[in-house]
Amino acid sequence: MRHIRKNFSARLAVAAGMLIGAFVTLDSIAPTVHAAGGQVTDPTGIAPDRYVYYPGTEALAKDEIRVVACGTGMPSSRHGQAASCWLIETGNGDKFLFDIGTGSMANVVAMMIPYQYLDKVFLSHLHTDHMGDIDALWAGGWTAGRPNALRVWGPSGATPEMGTRYAMEHFLKFVNWDKVTRSYKITPVPGQIEINEFDYKGENIVIYDEDGVTIRSWPAIHAGDGPVSFSLEYAGLKIVFGGDTVPNKWFNKYAKNADLVIHEAMMMPEQWRDLYGQPAQLAWRACCEFHTSPQSFGKIMSTVKPRHAVVYHFFNEEATRYPIYEGIRETYDGPLSMSTDLMVWNVTKDKITERMAAATDDAWAVKGTAIQPPPDKGIPNPISAYIDSGRWVEGFQAQDEMLDKYMKENNLQDQDWRPAMYEQLKAK
Ligand SMILES: [Zn+2]
Ligand SMILES: [Zn+2]
Repeated sequence: MRHIRKNFSARLAVAAGMLIGAFVTLDSIAPTVHAAGGQVTDPTGIAPDRYVYYPGTEALAKDEIRVVACGTGMPSSRHGQAASCWLIETGNGDKFLFDIGTGSMANVVAMMIPYQYLDKVFLSHLHTDHMGDIDALWAGGWTAGRPNALRVWGPSGATPEMGTRYAMEHFLKFVNWDKVTRSYKITPVPGQIEINEFDYKGENIVIYDEDGVTIRSWPAIHAGDGPVSFSLEYAGLKIVFGGDTVPNKWFNKYAKNADLVIHEAMMMPEQWRDLYGQPAQLAWRACCEFHTSPQSFGKIMSTVKPRHAVVYHFFNEEATRYPIYEGIRETYDGPLSMSTDLMVWNVTKDKITERMAAATDDAWAVKGTAIQPPPDKGIPNPISAYIDSGRWVEGFQAQDEMLDKYMKENNLQDQDWRPAMYEQLKAK
């Protein structure tokens, strides 16, 4: 089943699909790349079909799912590609983060979704390239108005110390200074994490079932017991997200009949060796013994036969993508996205489209409807009297005029901390 599109135009089409974000309709045949959308019929007209996704501008239909690649890369950081993170939005308004790998939160924030809705995280396993930016979500949302606690789902391990509960409880210990000080200065609840650990051995077990969205888990085989893969079902659609794994029987069984199937494939052994800096003995194992090679990825997709396949977990560039693409095409000739960060798929019963998000590098957190409560007065001040005594009253007074104006505008008179502080400082 060797794929025949190895000529220049096929390569150009693949590059266009990956880099320019051309609008692609992906049913029944391998992707056909269209250069642009529709026809502009007068000089003041607008292009009728969008072939890029502008974050924050498109409402989903009730029976639609949007998937955004917020991280498709590797444990070694790269400016252009964060580590594994997949945002799945369902037509009922729910948002789910599958993995939150190192560096991925900058892409998540660029989707212009208020933090109050970004409170559900599903971890495929506990390698840092799949959970390393949990700190950025946790503290970023806390400082930018999220009033609710985070909810994290993740697998157990062979022992309690290898499970998600242990990881999250010890994450909160790692960030203890941050947690104590923000709990005092801001408000405590957003610093809490609701931990939902489930059995990594569970086969197709339901781990989430709310508001018409069902998420299931089954085991993966990677570097130790614990990793899993997930499916999300909504409105008769099924998205599968494979965490790091080698080809395994569970994936073949439970990823069947999915609309969009996301699965890792690694760089070729020589790419690990020559580009990623690995010794030769590690390079071929990393590719092909505890991860999935392009050829094996293709074989998996030919077996589960998704409407559309998405491959990730390799640095995607000129030097890597063609050998990886051709490796996949040795064993799979169906619809395929060679994913990179900010690639977006809209999934309905009728069609699946692939586009690139046109996101700003300078995104701010977008304000939601929720209002964070004021500080909890019962929490002790983490600043001692000794450190507090070093405040310089004239330094504070320099901002009085500006603050008076701001407080008046915002009707904050009853929260003025200055008189008491100035009195205290002057008494010294
Ligand atoms: Zn891993
Ligand atoms: Zn990984």
